[in-house]
Amino acid sequence: MAQKTRRPLVSSRTKLLSESVIREMTRMADKYGALNLAQGFPDFAAPANIKAAAVKAIEEDYNQYAVTWGSPNLRSAICEKAAWFNGIRAEPDKNVTVTCGSTEAMMASVIALAEPGDEVIMFEPAYENYRPSTILAGATPVPVPLGQGFEIEEEPLKKAFGAQTKLIVVNTPHNPSGRVTTEAEMRLVADLCQDYGAIAITDEIYEHILYGGRKHISLATVGDMADRTVTISGVSKTYTATGWRIGYTIAEATLTGAIRKVHDYMTVCAPAPLQEAAAFALRLPRSFYTDLQRSYQKKRDFIVKGLKGIGFEFYDPEGAYYVLADFQNLSRTSDKDFSVAMTKDCKVAVVPGSSFYSDGRKGRTQVRFSYSKKESTLRKAVSMMEAYFASRRP
Ligand code: GLN
Repeated sequence: MAQKTRRPLVSSRTKLLSESVIREMTRMADKYGALNLAQGFPDFAAPANIKAAAVKAIEEDYNQYAVTWGSPNLRSAICEKAAWFNGIRAEPDKNVTVTCGSTEAMMASVIALAEPGDEVIMFEPAYENYRPSTILAGATPVPVPLGQGFEIEEEPLKKAFGAQTKLIVVNTPHNPSGRVTTEAEMRLVADLCQDYGAIAITDEIYEHILYGGRKHISLATVGDMADRTVTISGVSKTYTATGWRIGYTIAEATLTGAIRKVHDYMTVCAPAPLQEAAAFALRLPRSFYTDLQRSYQKKRDFIVKGLKGIGFEFYDPEGAYYVLADFQNLSRTSDKDFSVAMTKDCKVAVVPGSSFYSDGRKGRTQVRFSYSKKESTLRKAVSMMEAYFASRRP
């Protein structure tokens, strides 16, 4: 009889991944009936005209597979917006791939462009998906710490670049700190990419959420980066539609060819009717974006004031919708215990800071708040925290 070999049930690759802490905190928030200031998604309604466009597309029978790399209508809308907003010139047939959210866009890009032996530079703190995308591609993540104010620093970045550097992930506006990368920092990244023949993948999902009149800069428009950058964005955050899973990549034709192959075998296509609705959304008048900024500016100003009043310390967000706050004035416990207590006892869920670092000893005094919530939710959250921390004061 053939000898039974003991083979592991699951691949070793998956053992290098841990469960997403952000999604875990959402489950915990649901379990304890806490307000979810953990996961970054809105608790308010998507715009009515965008929803109507989705219903219309279903009724008009956009119900079968879309073209693998994206419906022609949506790819054209992406190119139009990339031109006026990002200053990126792209052709629908050559440069654009529509994916299932920017999460798939990131995963497909890393798998398409990196392989075992290649290094992928990412700044920390970092959104927790970049590392798993790199590991699933069989490549090696190389974390580079951001400075005190979450700026990109020349020395550590130069040290990280080397012969094995294939990719660098740049995220602006930044999750979890809310920092917006400056043009000088972009130049530094661009120069190093040129010197080492590396490609940048940018996560620009918060491109329309900036404060204090700041302007978004796409790395693809800096220096000679147009041919060396995969620009990623999507409809989730700008159009309050995180559940639609419509994201995209814009990249030079050869890069796009490889990304399209990975995307095809991974998901075939993003949801067809929602692609038509996304095309409608991307063509909304510019006033839509001004209104969006105004509404997020109000939320930001409110939460910044509220959290400071309670005793949290942090860098004021310049963009995106997160605050990465230090809680040492309020508690000496670990970030994880603090987050669990916040969720169970204070009923406001947050994300432990350590989940944004590969070295779990970092971020131990921080938690992340997401404020893409109704003003009433934010008001409730702040007053619940005020009461909770006041009751614990010695
Ligand atoms: N980007 C959001 C966050 O950081 C949510 C992403 C997700 O959970 N898919 O919370």
